[in-house]
Amino acid sequence: MSEVRDVLSPPGPGGANPATATAPPLVELRGVAKRFGLQPPPGPVGRALRRLGLSRAPVVTHAVDGVDLAVHAGEVVGLVGESGCGKSTLGRIAAGLLPATEGEVRVDGRPLEALNGRDRLAARLRTQMVFQDPFASLNPRLRVSRIVGEAALLHGLTDAAGLDDYVSAQLRRAGLDPALRHRYPHQFSGGQRQRIGIARALAVQPGLLVCDEAVAALDVSIQAQILNLFMDLRDQLGLTYLFISHDLGVVEHVCDRVVVMYLGRVVESAPVEELFARPNHPYTQALLAEIPSVAARRTRFSSICGEIPSPISPPSGCHFHPRCPHAMPRCATEVPRLRGIAVRHESACHLNDG
Ligand code: SF4
Repeated sequence: MSEVRDVLSPPGPGGANPATATAPPLVELRGVAKRFGLQPPPGPVGRALRRLGLSRAPVVTHAVDGVDLAVHAGEVVGLVGESGCGKSTLGRIAAGLLPATEGEVRVDGRPLEALNGRDRLAARLRTQMVFQDPFASLNPRLRVSRIVGEAALLHGLTDAAGLDDYVSAQLRRAGLDPALRHRYPHQFSGGQRQRIGIARALAVQPGLLVCDEAVAALDVSIQAQILNLFMDLRDQLGLTYLFISHDLGVVEHVCDRVVVMYLGRVVESAPVEELFARPNHPYTQALLAEIPSVAARRTRFSSICGEIPSPISPPSGCHFHPRCPHAMPRCATEVPRLRGIAVRHESACHLNDG
């Protein structure tokens, strides 16, 4: 990632300290939980099966479990954790693509549920997603001009007469030649396709981009270009980012603050320099220990002991206790509370209880 520019402490809106911001968060999740479940069939069939004792108890996946998260304007918040920790589900809830099973989503300080049709639509448009697989997220039957311009036209951000210029401007912003707008997605490289996805998101004039592993499928050199594009857009448009990634190297380069998730819960949150210098939670420490270090000239990398448990039946107490080298008897029964251990640094571990 050496080509990625150093963007820590940038000037402009991104450099604002969110702790001192008086405005409400752009997006705030309060006690959000998400469960996916196999329910018995509804109606008379389900009732009959239940009466005959033939319907099994529903299998419930606890994807997200009581998460509080606030993203302030101008911030780049990294959401990290292993596959299956619930970070993508949380990102989709923040983007309004998935409803929460429990808890509240607030946009600009107002509960999403309380917004009427017009305000709700505006709130939805303000948060856009950029997905991991640029090819799967683009309709292969549509030309780029339509992929990028369709939503803007639908929502009245441009009219038919100005559409061509509007699309060209978005493509230019995303670093693509507008002359290519009549082509189809398969005629572009992976990096160009990701730029089309970014242009599509920009076309509805968002305030927050939720980037879900947005550079994970790209070559390293292309990753650096796309990350630099994100940071340029942050400076030019005052964009805010929720940056979901399993790659801590990427997160260290682009984020202001990092939120670490494990099995549906937030276990640690801190400014990026603080988290990388003084990781507190044993899970964060294990994640950081996995980053290959050229300086340390290590030939063997330690990995977190054991598999991430199934979210269908997460371990009791601290979800991390079966894998934690510091686990104590109370860790198996008591859920550790996320609490402040330093300025803007929170961790959920019983080891912090004085
Ligand atoms: Fe380990 Fe216990 Fe802390 Fe969980 S609460 S991380 S099991 S020490």
